[in-house]
Amino acid sequence: MSGPQFLHSQLEKLARKYDTPFYVYDLEGINQRLKKFRASFHGDVEVHYAMKANANKDILKNFKKHKIGVDVVSWGEAKVAIDAGFHHRDIIFSGVGKSIEEITKAVKHQIKQINVESPQELIRIGEVAKKLKKKAQVAFRMNPNVSPQTHPYITTGFRENKFGMDASFLPELRGILTKYKKNIELKGVTLHIGSQLLTLDSLREAILKTIPIYLDFKNSGYPVETFDVGGGLGIPYDGQTQIDLAAYGAMVEELLKPLECRILCEPGRILVGEFGVLVAEVQYIKKTPFKNFAIVNTGMNHLIRPALYSAVHRIEKIETRASAEASELYDVVGPVCESSDFLGKDRYLPKLHQGDLLAILDSGAYGFSMASNYNHHDLPKEIILKK
Ligand code: PLP
Repeated sequence: MSGPQFLHSQLEKLARKYDTPFYVYDLEGINQRLKKFRASFHGDVEVHYAMKANANKDILKNFKKHKIGVDVVSWGEAKVAIDAGFHHRDIIFSGVGKSIEEITKAVKHQIKQINVESPQELIRIGEVAKKLKKKAQVAFRMNPNVSPQTHPYITTGFRENKFGMDASFLPELRGILTKYKKNIELKGVTLHIGSQLLTLDSLREAILKTIPIYLDFKNSGYPVETFDVGGGLGIPYDGQTQIDLAAYGAMVEELLKPLECRILCEPGRILVGEFGVLVAEVQYIKKTPFKNFAIVNTGMNHLIRPALYSAVHRIEKIETRASAEASELYDVVGPVCESSDFLGKDRYLPKLHQGDLLAILDSGAYGFSMASNYNHHDLPKEIILKK
């Protein structure tokens, strides 16, 4: 499984047409990946795209066309999804800090499922639903305490993380369900243990630890029917091994088969990450006695992953003819007034000059969606390639 091949000639043409910086997305590549993701399951799987990865309207409309749902983490995201054509019943609402207003909208519009992150949240849902005379459908997000195998800032299923609920919360949760039995319906369990997972071991462990909880509810008469395995599948940013999607689907189905449940999942990065490129222009080459800096017109304001997670994105000089000049070592940095504002450090690149174009690869997930106008730079443009 390989990512898209953005042709340098194509990127150069786009750069001539639109000003840099911009993100460009390969919609056909995204669709192929979705197809492959779905095909990794033999039976039915209900895919809810985690739109926090990339909420571009055309990408969302495209996903709607392919009949998948969305996983949102704020009502703001839900509104964007609805604007893109999703129905309330297509929405799963995750996140640890849902406000009363957000819960009110979710319950009023009868979204598919609210993933509950704490007993207090469950009480809040119960109170809101009672007031609205509605029944909210919820799933309990468990924290299975599995050891993280990814960057500490993107682990979510470890006991130190704020996400999910420890099994010790269960008696209290059952009590709350009893109190609000007219207004809350428990539909299932859910987990999401972290992002950029490159092996399946911790997900397997998390599912195995959560199965008894599902069964316990089922055996005590709760109408549970969904098991949501979250998202988290990683992509090979820096030559790492690609996650084996067929093995993923087979593992999830095999583990959950005895439950006879509906399988839900919330993939984000794996569907879009490799199908986006950030294109920038070199503004200045600054050579100090210690470093060569290529200062470009985009940075942590548009792609924060290197600064926030020490993420490594491959960077290519966009050239349509091979350069005869020897490569040099560069730090590729942005215009933002922070020393953490870099896109890549110590990169060998063909000799760079003012005006050269660079492609920062695998930027389709958590790129534009985390962009800001810090320092009051404009946001980058987004371009969709349909073919
Ligand atoms: N589901 C939940 C609850 C999340 O918090 C996230 C990401 O943080 C995802 C799904 C998607 O993760 P990924 O993009 O790694 O697939």
